[in-house]
Amino acid sequence: MRERISFIFISLILSLVVCTVLARRSHKTIGRSVSRLLAAICLPVTGNLILIVSREKLLSTIGCYIYFTGMDFFLFSMLLFTFEYCNIRRPSKKVKAAVYFFLGTDILQFLLNPFFGHAFATEKITVSGDPYYRLIPYAGQYYHRIVCYGMFFAILIFFFMRTLRAPRIYSERYSVIFISYLIGGIWQSFYIFSRTPLDLSMIGIAVFGLLCFYFALHYRPMRLLDRMLANIASKMPEALFFFDLSGRCIWANRPGIELSAIHDDEFVQATTNLRRIFGSDLPLEENGWTSQKIIESGDDEHHYAMEKLLVTDERGRSAGSFLSIRDNTAEQIQLRQEIYNATHDKLTGLYTREYLYSRINGRIGNSPNIPRYAVFVDIKNFKIVNDIFSTDFGDFALKCVAEWLRSAFTHNSLFGRLGGDTFGVLVPVNEFNKAKLEDELSRFVVNDGSVEYHVLLHLGVYRITQADTDVSVMFDRAHLALSLIRDEYQTHIAIYDDTIRSQVLWDQHISAQLHEALAERHLRPFLQPIVDANGKVVGAEALARWIHPTDGFLSPAKFIPVFEKNGMIVEVDKYMWRCACEILSRWKKQGCDMFISVNISPKDFYFIDVTAEIRRLVKEYGIEPSRLRIEITETVMMTNADEKMNILRDLRSSGFIVEMDDFGSGYSSLNMLKDMPVDVLKIDMKFLSKSSDENKARTIIQNILKLSEDLGISSLTEGVETAEQFNMLSEMSCKLFQGYYFSKPISVEEFENSMIKK
Ligand code: C2E
Ligand code: CA
Ligand code: CA
Repeated sequence: MRERISFIFISLILSLVVCTVLARRSHKTIGRSVSRLLAAICLPVTGNLILIVSREKLLSTIGCYIYFTGMDFFLFSMLLFTFEYCNIRRPSKKVKAAVYFFLGTDILQFLLNPFFGHAFATEKITVSGDPYYRLIPYAGQYYHRIVCYGMFFAILIFFFMRTLRAPRIYSERYSVIFISYLIGGIWQSFYIFSRTPLDLSMIGIAVFGLLCFYFALHYRPMRLLDRMLANIASKMPEALFFFDLSGRCIWANRPGIELSAIHDDEFVQATTNLRRIFGSDLPLEENGWTSQKIIESGDDEHHYAMEKLLVTDERGRSAGSFLSIRDNTAEQIQLRQEIYNATHDKLTGLYTREYLYSRINGRIGNSPNIPRYAVFVDIKNFKIVNDIFSTDFGDFALKCVAEWLRSAFTHNSLFGRLGGDTFGVLVPVNEFNKAKLEDELSRFVVNDGSVEYHVLLHLGVYRITQADTDVSVMFDRAHLALSLIRDEYQTHIAIYDDTIRSQVLWDQHISAQLHEALAERHLRPFLQPIVDANGKVVGAEALARWIHPTDGFLSPAKFIPVFEKNGMIVEVDKYMWRCACEILSRWKKQGCDMFISVNISPKDFYFIDVTAEIRRLVKEYGIEPSRLRIEITETVMMTNADEKMNILRDLRSSGFIVEMDDFGSGYSSLNMLKDMPVDVLKIDMKFLSKSSDENKARTIIQNILKLSEDLGISSLTEGVETAEQFNMLSEMSCKLFQGYYFSKPISVEEFENSMIKK
């Protein structure tokens, strides 16, 4: 009996020592209190062990001392542990002092017992033939009991209150300690009052210590966690469904119940209901997938992000699965909007350059064998449109171009905005109707209600020969094709061919030489005589000629469009006007009163103050303004007509004679004529002879001439090549004539030698 009980006590003491060390090493703050408590419990348990094993008086008396004082230490550390474990505020100084006083005096009176014998004595008894020493309590022992019970009940009350007050899911950790502490107390009381020599209640106290160790340091309240997780899951905005191993739905949260329309918490219905909503192919038996579903109801559209995951236990064995369904409609719409914004141009709604390129790559990749064109669309003089009108009108024009692209190209084409005023199109060759597009572009007018403007669109076209060519290279080539367009207003579409590279190089080549050509007088005016109805030379038109030192004779058709495009035409024209003035001043000295007409490019008006420049020249050379005639083409009037009218009026009031060149070539309407501040209409025969029917041409000329006469505008016909034409025009009362029939443009020297001497 003694041995067996001793063995239990020793095992418990060893366990307590081990746990004391472990608690001491614990990182938790409560570790120190636990460690102190366990160490304190070791004292009465050891005291009791000594009592049990001792067969002689002295040893058992020592055991009693350790036991009783150990109880004081145990209760003291239990009090400290209680404060920490129950999160109770530390007691006030007075209470602390009282505790120290009672425990201190108790220990002191035990220490004095050997001298006064006032606390206890022991008596030998025999149980089953074995000697034991039984306690005989005196006054001091009763004092000890009062102190200990006082402490015991105080602690018991703390735990009791905690157990009562804590939320249900927390009360577990208090109630376990409370109950085991109570049992320990009752067990102990039984021994005290039954005066049994073998006090086994210390086993209860030791076990209680171990419980404290476990609950304070290692206990994870699984039920608490479960509850919390369940609570969180119920409050999640997404619908959650939990399935057991057989795939039956065992629980769904509130949004889940609502989404799947489960009745009366019949969770098993969920599977069927979800399949009805999301389609019978919803792979509910499978795990580890995510999916985005769109459900349409009426005009509404709902987007759901779904995720089905396997749930495993801590050893990784499958324990079931769960499905989460999140309504992310707003997110998806926002995402769609963001994708749209990133891929579409804000102003026109067309694809952005990057997106167009990627779409083109995809389209060509899918069907590389369909022959296609890459078309580069450019708005000519867009900067001028913005400057002269407003950026609002410019924006409006861009939108109109986008609209035109939508109407002109089918869904087999792709188009987008490449940059400010440029657009790109990918179109199958067999859907590209050049004649139709040319026709539409020649009539492409933008009207915002207050301004009407002919927007000049140029299309450079590149036929895609190799599917793996970089899209940007395709459009670069299509862009290059634009340089083939010489006559800006007549031709709108140019197709890239291999000569284009040399063309571009040639343009650069002559542009680089212009200054030298002017300085060296390689570029100089030729004069083409202008005659009156009697055939008498009355003037001449100055036309530029470039006698190139290596390339030979260059016609203006080769270089004027190049310079018109890059703006260098201003240099040429200013130079030509100066030459004309130089010639006129020489003629004036020779007493010759013939005039010279000079050409003014529409671009000149954009870059310089034409009136001021010309006025300055005639002043410098001291010539009559009426000797210098100004030829402008009707295209000048296409932008900012009012301002141009003022300029022309200005020129006329300064005494210059203004001629409307190439009348009938393009957009002029006879109606416009009456408001035009011009002196002379210059009608070009070649535009008229272009029309098939000669009679028709004759009628048109006749009417133009008649109208101009009625309006008091003089007329000049150029391009007269035959005597018949001359006679016919004379009969129609045309005043002046110019053409190969009289003379080709000739050098100034030749002109002066042959014409002035006449
Ligand atoms: P334009 O101002 O209409 O000049 C008349 C053109 O018709 C000249 O061509 C002239 O040689 C040609 N021509 C004259 N009579 C006949 C004829 O009976 N039959 C035919 N088929 N053609 C005739 P050119 O000199 O080659 O000039 C072409 C264009 O170049 C001019 O057309 C003008 O627009 C431009 N140009 C020439 N010189 C200058 C210049 O100094 N400044 C500017 N801005 N443009 C110029
Ligand atoms: Ca001319
Ligand atoms: Ca002309």
